[in-house]
Amino acid sequence: MGFQMENKDFNALLQSLKKEYKIYAPKRLEKRGRFSDTDIIGYEEIDEVEEIVYTEKSHYSPKEIVFPITQTLFYFTEEEYKESTVHDKKILIFVRPCDINGMKRLDTIFLQNGPYADVYYERLREKVKFVMMECKESFENCFCVSMNSNYTDNYSIAISFKENKVVCDVKDETFKSLFEKAGEKVDFIPAYVKENHVKVNVPEGEKITIELFNHDLWKDYAKRCIACGRCNTSCITCSCFNTQDIAYEENPESGERRRVWAGCHIDKFTNMAGGHEFRTDYGSRMRFKTMHKIYDYHKRFGEHMCIGCGRCDDRCPEYISFSKCINKVNEILEKEEATNE
Ligand code: SF4
Ligand code: SF4
Repeated sequence: MGFQMENKDFNALLQSLKKEYKIYAPKRLEKRGRFSDTDIIGYEEIDEVEEIVYTEKSHYSPKEIVFPITQTLFYFTEEEYKESTVHDKKILIFVRPCDINGMKRLDTIFLQNGPYADVYYERLREKVKFVMMECKESFENCFCVSMNSNYTDNYSIAISFKENKVVCDVKDETFKSLFEKAGEKVDFIPAYVKENHVKVNVPEGEKITIELFNHDLWKDYAKRCIACGRCNTSCITCSCFNTQDIAYEENPESGERRRVWAGCHIDKFTNMAGGHEFRTDYGSRMRFKTMHKIYDYHKRFGEHMCIGCGRCDDRCPEYISFSKCINKVNEILEKEEATNE
């Protein structure tokens, strides 16, 4: 059901929703950008629609709302432990279609990858409803169409931002009476990106060969990558973390266990007991990430992990392009196939 209303009426609606919901959206965080005097677009709580940055791609995804950068799992003393708690509000997130599809990948990893769901993820994720921001035009480096993640109908509300007003499609019954009171009924179907400037050809799984794993392609990345991990932290589908036990100074027998984001590009990520370490050269880390995003995950779950948001390309200080990497992999395999025919 479609509704339109002026921004001031939508803001009043947001205020009434805020009694029950924490409301997150991409927001301009001034002077926190990569270079001096630059901003960053990240997810934070908002009070009014004017704070939402919808004309630019966010540098970071909404994953930190359900998978915080640092999260206390439990507190311990010598004799017992106590699980951490979360806030009692529900969560509304303003999010693009690709990121709703990205969240589905996170759900698969945290909730369906093995016999037990991750309770620390689940307890936040089950609170979430999506307000899908209409996304009609592709941004730089996006290749969502190639990855089939440009479209979704998995939302409670869809929204299109116009000058001083918003138009919404409200699918979730719990919100309908609020919107009926605040706006006038209109017809509205959200539009989707149909074409990106960047296109990738993802090779089919059965075409991946052992030769690809030893190809010189990865040596190029070994020279260029600096293992900063920005591609991991900006990626909505990267879900790796380390656990840390923090002992309190006053009483080192008590403390807390936290989990903290980690990433396959970062040094020491593969450190194991006994001093073992794997993928010490940076090229093999690029290979590992690439294969996970476009091969291994697909083999297990039937869809690609990468959603083509292009944030890894946006963020890489060494101008390493993941979309170009996928296309190079495809070209190598096509050449191999032609040679073997
Ligand atoms: S690998 Fe890059 S393009 Fe793919 S989902 Fe992650 S950040 Fe987006
Ligand atoms: S952002 Fe670029 S340089 Fe940094 S780890 Fe990723 S690929 Fe390497």
